[in-house]
Amino acid sequence: MAQVVLADVLKHYDTLENVTLTGYRNPPALNHVSLTVRDGETLSVVGPSGCGKSTLLKVVAGLEYPNSGKVYFDDVDMTDIKPQDRGVGMVFQDYALYPSMKGRGNLQYFFEVHQRTQEEMDTKVRATAELMGMGFELLLGRIPDTLSGGEKQRVAIARCIVRDPTVFLMDEPISNLDAKLRERTRTEIKKLLQKFNITTLYVTHDQQEAIFMSDRIAVMRQGVIEQVGTFDEVYFNPANLFVATFIGTPPISIVPATLSDGAVIIGAARLPMPEWMHAASLPREVRLGVRPEGWIISQNDGAGVPVNVSHVERLPTERAAFVSGTLANTTVRALAPLDYPQVEKVWLMPDWERAYVFDAMTEAALHVPGVPELF
Ligand code: ADP
Repeated sequence: MAQVVLADVLKHYDTLENVTLTGYRNPPALNHVSLTVRDGETLSVVGPSGCGKSTLLKVVAGLEYPNSGKVYFDDVDMTDIKPQDRGVGMVFQDYALYPSMKGRGNLQYFFEVHQRTQEEMDTKVRATAELMGMGFELLLGRIPDTLSGGEKQRVAIARCIVRDPTVFLMDEPISNLDAKLRERTRTEIKKLLQKFNITTLYVTHDQQEAIFMSDRIAVMRQGVIEQVGTFDEVYFNPANLFVATFIGTPPISIVPATLSDGAVIIGAARLPMPEWMHAASLPREVRLGVRPEGWIISQNDGAGVPVNVSHVERLPTERAAFVSGTLANTTVRALAPLDYPQVEKVWLMPDWERAYVFDAMTEAALHVPGVPELF
């Protein structure tokens, strides 16, 4: 086990021919990233496609080398160490099993390459099969082509575990599986991670999976880590508008608002400004953020901002519905009771104690509600 540290890592994929007089042609995949994954923790990396999640993993694995910056495992500088000497185990979306080898061969390969004894191999494979749980022994005798997606992924995970990795790197490990299998496999992976306490970086585009798997979440955008924290920290206390919109399903509503003369003006509506806004010395033009559960919804004229309803989505398992509509040219969604009628128009009023304010220019959070217990 080890703490993993990325210190000011810059990674450009552009080769020198691509560098023009004005600099690199493409923006960097990692733009001076600094991140600490604590010893034994599972940290999920989330962000839109192309934001640099896989590159981050590859730099930790040694499959890509940074242009500048350092990678440390504890105090050891790993930046120039070859991938095979880093003690990392990687699990990819496409399993990457050796196709001609049976499960056992896949697990043993590492030991064969390192010329370890048959006895050591057998002991390790047996111990790993036990850890992997019911039915895993059977998979050892089969070649990958005969395994289902979930089974392949179990073998791929076991192949990592058998090597006693210092660090576990998982890149969308279950996104190729169907929904049902995904749920089962993610529980299995979580159990294994808990059992081993191995420092793990887990890349996923699915924030629900990130919440389930990890101790903390890093939110990335365009090669930059925008925020790192527990789910509660990034959900209730987002650093900026991007994090606020990226985390949370359905997403937070962001509406342009003008703060003037004791009023919050949204479109044509003037709402009385809450006490704390007076005190907060906010700029005139802001972005107001309200999560679905932060709206007070009403069918009465005058109780907030009028919104034409586009649809009502019912979620029986949540005993709730989401009412969607357009406000100031942006989509807004409000949480409502499951039996909410399919009306044409509703009035939405922010519950001001749950409303966020972001700078209209920099998009930095200017105000975040302080007390998560309220939610
Ligand atoms: P993510 O995993 O978040 O989807 P990636 O790390 O794969 O993002 O990619 C980050 C950026 O780097 C993207 O713009 C992508 O096009 C670029 N990129 C990734 N791999 C390569 C590569 N081998 N060569 C050139 N550009 C790459």
